[in-house]
Amino acid sequence: MSETDVHGEAVDWESEDEDSDDSEEQEEGYTSPSQPPSSWNFDKDRHLVYLQMMYELLPHHYQSQEINRLTLAHFIISGLHFLGATDRVDKDVVAKWVLSFQAFPSNRASLKEGEFYGFYGSRSSQFPIDENGDLTHNNSHLASTYCALAILKVIGHDLSTIDSESLLLSMKNLQQDDGSFMPTHTGGETDLRFVYCAAAISDMLGDWSGMDKEKAKNYILNCQSYDGGFGLIPGSESHGGGTYCAIASLRLMGFIGADLLSNDSSSSILDPSLLLNWSLQRQASDGGFQGRTNKRSDTCYAFWIGAVLKLIGGDAFIDKIALRQFLLSCQSKYGGFSKYPGALPDLYHSYYGYTAFSFLEEPGLSPLCPELGLPLLTALGI
Ligand SMILES: [Zn+2]
Repeated sequence: MSETDVHGEAVDWESEDEDSDDSEEQEEGYTSPSQPPSSWNFDKDRHLVYLQMMYELLPHHYQSQEINRLTLAHFIISGLHFLGATDRVDKDVVAKWVLSFQAFPSNRASLKEGEFYGFYGSRSSQFPIDENGDLTHNNSHLASTYCALAILKVIGHDLSTIDSESLLLSMKNLQQDDGSFMPTHTGGETDLRFVYCAAAISDMLGDWSGMDKEKAKNYILNCQSYDGGFGLIPGSESHGGGTYCAIASLRLMGFIGADLLSNDSSSSILDPSLLLNWSLQRQASDGGFQGRTNKRSDTCYAFWIGAVLKLIGGDAFIDKIALRQFLLSCQSKYGGFSKYPGALPDLYHSYYGYTAFSFLEEPGLSPLCPELGLPLLTALGI
C-alpha cells in the first residue's frame, strides 16, 4: 500500500509498505543513497518544471491512483502556490473541474438519512458499483473534500459559493459515538486522519456545526501514547502522521494555543513535555525525521513532525541545518523530492518537501500554515 493509493486519502502514511520499500525502489529506478544530491541548493526552477509537467500530464505511473485525482491535483496546485507560480494554472478551469466533484442531496430530508455530501476523489468514484452490481451514487470522501477545498482556497475561489450547509450537516453522519470519523458513509477505518480532515474542512468553511468538537477532543486525547506521541487509534503505536493529526486538530478546534510548551503542564489537556521529547527524538542522525521509532528518515515526516514542533512552539530545538541537508539529498535532478535519498520523486513527497522548505523559511517560498498543511493564505485575505 503506498501513501496515496487508498481511496482518496490525502493523509495516509507508511504502514505495511515499509517492509517492501526495497522492491518498490528497484521498480522505480532506485540508485545508491551514497550518490551525491543533484544540488546543495533548493532548486526552485527544476521544481517548477516538475510541477508544470505534472499539471499538464500525469505520467502513467499514476494510473492506479486515478481514484485520488483530487489529492494529486492538490499536491500540484498547492505546490505551485508554495513556489509562487499559481499564475501557471487556469483558475477558472480548475475551479469548474473541482466543483464538478461535489455530491448534492436530492432533497433536504435526505441529509439526515446517513449519507455524506462532500466531494468525490475522482470521476470514476462518482458512480462506483457495489458488490451487488448496483450503482452507488454517492461515495464522497472526507479526504477528497479536504483536498477540494484546499485547491479552491489556494486558487482564491470564494468558498461561500459552496453548498456548505449540506456538506456540514451530512458530515455529522460520519462522526462516531467515540468522537472519531468514518471517511465515507459507506464505511472505512475510523481514526485520527479523518478527525483531522473534518476539523480542517470546518476551519476552511468557517463553520463548526458539522462536528461535535468535545467528542473529537476526547477521542484525540485517548490516542496519546505512554511515550508522548499519538497513535492513529487509541492504544496504537505513536506515529508521526497520527501525532500531526492530533495536534493540528486540537489547534484548529481551539483547544491548544501556540504557547502549549510554556504553559504549566499540569493544566494542559495533554502532556506537552513528553510530546516534545517524542517529536524531537524522531530527528535521526542523518538529519531527517522518521515517522516511528527505528524507521528510516523520510522526506514527508519533515513536515508531519516539523509542523507538530512548530505548533507546540518547539521548533527551535530542531537541527535545521541537518534537516535541510537531508531534504536536499532527496531532491531529484528532475525536480521534486523522493521519499529517501536516491529514489525517484513522487508528488506526495514533493509536496511535503515544499512544505518542509517553507517551514525552514527558504527564500522565495510562500509561508506555511502548519495546522492546515497549506500555504498561509490569510496574509492574502483569502
Ligand atoms: Zn513518506
